Amino acid sequence: MASYGPVTKKYWALWDSLKLHNGVLYRKWESDDGRSFRLQLVVPRSRVENVLEELHSSPSGGHFGVMKTTHKVRERFYWDKLKSDVDKWCRTCSTCTARKGPNTRTRGRLQRYNVGAPFERIAIDVLGPLPQTTNGNKYILVVMDYFTKWPEAYVIPNQEATTVAEALLQDWICRFGVPLLLHSDQGTNFTSAVFTGLMDLLGVTKTRTTPLHPQSDGMVERLNRTILNHLSLFTHRNQNDWDQKLPLFLLAYRSAVHETTGLSPFQMLMGRELRLPCDLLFGRPPDDPSSPVEYLEDLKARLEYVHLFARERFDINTSRMKTRYDAKSHEPAFKIGDKVWFWNPKRRKGLSPKLQTFWEGPYTVVKQLNDVVYRIQKKPCKPKVVHCDKLAPYNSAHE
Ligand SMILES: [Zn+2]
Repeated sequence: MASYGPVTKKYWALWDSLKLHNGVLYRKWESDDGRSFRLQLVVPRSRVENVLEELHSSPSGGHFGVMKTTHKVRERFYWDKLKSDVDKWCRTCSTCTARKGPNTRTRGRLQRYNVGAPFERIAIDVLGPLPQTTNGNKYILVVMDYFTKWPEAYVIPNQEATTVAEALLQDWICRFGVPLLLHSDQGTNFTSAVFTGLMDLLGVTKTRTTPLHPQSDGMVERLNRTILNHLSLFTHRNQNDWDQKLPLFLLAYRSAVHETTGLSPFQMLMGRELRLPCDLLFGRPPDDPSSPVEYLEDLKARLEYVHLFARERFDINTSRMKTRYDAKSHEPAFKIGDKVWFWNPKRRKGLSPKLQTFWEGPYTVVKQLNDVVYRIQKKPCKPKVVHCDKLAPYNSAHE
């Protein structure tokens, strides 16, 4: 072995955890507590790009940030320097860097909730109006479960309370049951109209609970932003097909780890990982066969464990998010020579601003004029003098 390069030596050191399955090389990867393991396909250098393309840049990849992408890749694959490859891929992905600035700019209110179990509390919001699609849709009803972070997005033609109530009943309640609490940031009138509409549809005349809480902790706002970002990347130029792009976005979101729970919404709900298009492309060892009874027992145990893990994470995360939030409230400082994105909301005629990306770059910081004003330039254009609110670091890791 002494004569081989460092990479070969690294794989050699892994010898005991490598195994062949139908002629394909896998690495057996155990979780930290040793309770579970998975098989990661060992990817040769030459195929790394295909994997990253599929898990980050494809429609079912969804252009998620470094953390989510790394999780998705590790769930399935192993190669030397995986983390740094993913990191680099996401940073240099030209399609998605442009949209990352706004996330660091808008701040949601941070509130704490004690979340209990799947589908007890849900939040709803209506996004729009967006350009009317060929199918006649103009709005998106966004629904999210607080505990599992399971997202749904239903396309609707208008935002009348009856339309919203009908969609909630047909698509959410018929699948997941009636929630105990319904949150919404829309006006109180709207929310109570939706609620009354729902009770009518359900044939419930009197209820002792009033599932109305016109407040949210930014959970749905963040999902909304992610949806709009995603649609702006994948929607056709004339913007009339965004309703067809939504389902694939949801697939990407449900299979990506959520930073609050540390697990993907799919895992939280089903207790196992979702099979993605890339699993067909690259193959994946099938799960061990089991009888329905065995499966149910096993599933119960896994879900209990998964939910316990998530509950612990909720606590850790609240403090971590708060620290990060506080750290961000300082003015960003740029140095001369720094590469930056510049926020330039120029409207293209006839297109909805909601589905456009407005970040231009990279610009170079030429001079700092005072604490908040900078001169920037993108050669061969003339320099601009801009407020730092309109700037974002070009190389920031995007989550
Ligand atoms: Zn990307």
